[in-house]
Amino acid sequence: MTDLHQTRPSAPRCAHRCRPTPSRDARTLSRRATLRWAWLVVAGALALGCSDGSDGTNDATASAADAGLHGDGSLSDGVGSDTQGSGKDAGDGGSDPLSVPADGYRAIFLDIGQGDATLLITASGETLLVDSGPSDDKIIQRLVALGLKRLDAVLATHADADHIAGLAAVIAHYDVKTVYWNGLTKETKVFKTFYEAANKTTLVEPKRGSTAKLGNLTLEFLHPAKGNSGSDHNADSLVVLTGCSGAWLLLTGDAEADTEDELLKAGVLSDVDVLKVAHHGSASGTTTAFLKAVTPEHAVISAGLNNKYDHPDKGVLKRLADIGAKIYQTDDTWEDDSQTLRATCKGGLTVGPLH
Ligand SMILES: [Zn+2]
Repeated sequence: MTDLHQTRPSAPRCAHRCRPTPSRDARTLSRRATLRWAWLVVAGALALGCSDGSDGTNDATASAADAGLHGDGSLSDGVGSDTQGSGKDAGDGGSDPLSVPADGYRAIFLDIGQGDATLLITASGETLLVDSGPSDDKIIQRLVALGLKRLDAVLATHADADHIAGLAAVIAHYDVKTVYWNGLTKETKVFKTFYEAANKTTLVEPKRGSTAKLGNLTLEFLHPAKGNSGSDHNADSLVVLTGCSGAWLLLTGDAEADTEDELLKAGVLSDVDVLKVAHHGSASGTTTAFLKAVTPEHAVISAGLNNKYDHPDKGVLKRLADIGAKIYQTDDTWEDDSQTLRATCKGGLTVGPLH
């Protein structure tokens, strides 16, 4: 198996990602070439089988768990037709919150209050939770309510409590086998609890240029570059690009303007379809220059209703609107305002409320 801690020795500058922003079609072709040489950080719990979805046969909906595979490729006990989504809706975002288009994927931006928690589900049933929000009770409640029975991996974008405070409980509840993190520790009880749980799994510390497989998806790590700042946790957030043709999704953690500038200078940004807006829509990030590089059609903001930080910032909302992005928020009401992306990998996607 590939060394899980292996990263590409020098992150090559990908010509196809240098500004100006390439078209999605050009990007898809270039991505295939990129994948031929890319180092793979293959997590043991994740199954192989990447494609850009362009060879998918249809956009019919399949249950995320219909493949019934564990990450090691073995058939799972009891993971059959209805363990993780019934697959009954037909690509219109129907009633089953875990159903996934057959050649695509799904992302659920969970309403967990002031924080972040994004669940990725592939067409073949692999699952990854990116951050947990600030409460173990809330994230477990949300995942169980979804009917989630299997969680292959967890990704902690950075060590702040509003992102990792629920992860130890999630790792234990779902017996998670793989944890991605940025390698930056923090002197807090929350971090210690997270790390103790994560350290019992396969810990993976990706850097820029690393990739990992999640079923039919590739996770491409854009940030941090080698090393980290050593103190600014937001600046060392893992920034991850994933998705497929017509449905590229950029996850940004709590990146701020300095990180966005660094990403721009490194030339690793390109056009995406859906942007998970950084830092809960804080005024500290989502600059116009960054938005012009990633040009999202859809922007999802995870924040708590009436939060004390005034997230999302009005200026950020204006910049997103100015670039033509449709905005979705998890803080609209006191009810569950989780949002979801359903992608077919053939250019079709829907974004909207989960419920
Ligand atoms: Zn945060």
